Amino acid sequence: MTRCVNCNARALKKRLVERMRAVGDHVFAAKLPAEVCTVCATQYFADVAVESFDLGIAAALLDAGATGAQALKFLRSVTGLQGKEFADLIGVRPETVSRWEQGRGAIDRATYTVLRQLVAERQQHRTNTADFLQSLKRPKRLPKRVNLLLRKAA
Ligand SMILES: [Zn+2]
Repeated sequence: MTRCVNCNARALKKRLVERMRAVGDHVFAAKLPAEVCTVCATQYFADVAVESFDLGIAAALLDAGATGAQALKFLRSVTGLQGKEFADLIGVRPETVSRWEQGRGAIDRATYTVLRQLVAERQQHRTNTADFLQSLKRPKRLPKRVNLLLRKAA
C-alpha cells in the first residue's frame, strides 16, 4: 500500500500501534505492526498481524479456561467455523452452540478441549481434529483381521 485509502495521501509510515480488543469482561492489548497515515492518522493493520493478535487472545482465554459466553463465541470464531459448522462437527444441534454463546448453558469439558484443539490447529495451519470429527460422521468398516505396520522402537 502506498496511498492512504482514507485521504489518498502518500504519507504512510510503518509503526508499532497498540491494538485492543474486548472479549467479555476483559480487554486484550498488544502492539501490532501497522501503517499509519501521517496526514489523517488512519491505521492499517495487516491481516496476518490481526490474526496473530486474535490467536494470542484465544491462547490467553484457553490458558485461563475461560468459558463465558463471549469467550466461547470468540474462540469458535477463531477456529474459522460458523456456529452451525462447529455444531455439526461436534455432533450437537446448532441451538446448543447458540445457547453456550449466549450464556444460557455450560459447555462440557470434553467439547471445550476439542475447541482448544481446533484453535491450536488453526494456528499451526492443520486440520487433523476437524478431519477426524468429519470422518466420525461416516465410520469406515473395520475388517475382522487388521494387519498393523508398527514403527520400530527407537
Ligand atoms: Zn490518510
